[in-house]
Amino acid sequence: GSTIGILGGGQLGRMLSVAAARLGFKTCVFEPAGDCPASHVANYHLQASYEDESALKKFADSVDVITYEFENIPTSALDTLEAIRPIHPSREALRISQDRLIEKDFLTNLGLTVAPYAHVNSEEDLRAAVAKVGLPAILKTCRFGYDGKGQARLETEADIAPAWEAMAGAPSVLEGFISFTKEISIIAARGPSGEVSCYDPGENVHEGGILRTTTVPAVIPASLRTDAVLLAARVLNALEYVGVMGVELFVTPNGLLVNEIAPRVHNSGHWTQNGCTVDQFEQHIRAVAGWPLGNGARHADIVMENLIGDDMDRVPELAKSADAALHLYGKAEVKKGRKMGHVNHIKRP
Ligand code: ATP
Ligand code: MG
Ligand code: MG
Repeated sequence: GSTIGILGGGQLGRMLSVAAARLGFKTCVFEPAGDCPASHVANYHLQASYEDESALKKFADSVDVITYEFENIPTSALDTLEAIRPIHPSREALRISQDRLIEKDFLTNLGLTVAPYAHVNSEEDLRAAVAKVGLPAILKTCRFGYDGKGQARLETEADIAPAWEAMAGAPSVLEGFISFTKEISIIAARGPSGEVSCYDPGENVHEGGILRTTTVPAVIPASLRTDAVLLAARVLNALEYVGVMGVELFVTPNGLLVNEIAPRVHNSGHWTQNGCTVDQFEQHIRAVAGWPLGNGARHADIVMENLIGDDMDRVPELAKSADAALHLYGKAEVKKGRKMGHVNHIKRP
């Protein structure tokens, strides 16, 4: 049988490994950390740094195709890997989503709407950006941000200096604050022959920058549902994408705005594990392995709730519930703000 190589050993890599195993694949996870969620379920764990060229070569040689669970893979590592085995989704999808500025330019050029934005490389730039974008606004580092990290909120001009300081000199982008009516996301997949399939959009609630719940179906007009599907398909087709992508959207009175895209399976798609015949993890493995896409139609109403930090105390109670499907990541240490697992509350069978 073939082996799928997965870059990154977190919970997404773990759930990709489980899905791959169900389809009869073996998995090899490349991850610098030792005791990581994916290492417990993958067939092989290659524990090495992304700077270790011979380890990267060994990894690539041992697999048939390479995918990833996070977007911040160093370019040098990609060069080494891609010379040996195909990487899906493509380098181009990574290049664009690794940098918020490049991503916003890309989406704008596709004719999609994003929040007003401006590039910021200095405090002086930030003053000019505030004049252009207006207040309130959010300053975000271009690279490496997740779960709301690397962001500073600006309410007044007095926030300019401290906000720039908080970026620690990193190239950043200022975004106008969007007073959205709700946040939704669409998990979209594109197969090897170009077919596109989208999951039903979910409604997302964040707390402190971290996803708290995703509810499906999202309560939105049918026209917005269509807009979300068409917009996601436009992004996937433009990239000749192969795999699953998460597209985060703001719903506003003027329609949908794209917040960000993630070239991988996405936390807001975890509901698909108990709401669809083929979940986002299997869908991604199918695409990457050259299989046709599977049936992603939704057959239940679900509230996906992340179990963050001390939420783990509720596991014994949740384990007794008839309509709670638990997914735990096997992380040894509970930490504040750390995603430990999630539960899919099934609202209608
Ligand atoms: P993720 O873990 O999703 O990758 P991230 O660190 O990349 O998170 P964003 O998605 O940019 O962060 O922002 C996190 C949340 O902050 C958003 O889901 C939204 O609730 C809020 N937010 C971000 N940008 C804006 C904006 N321009 N206007 C209003 N709210 C925003
Ligand atoms: Mg992000
Ligand atoms: Mg986000």
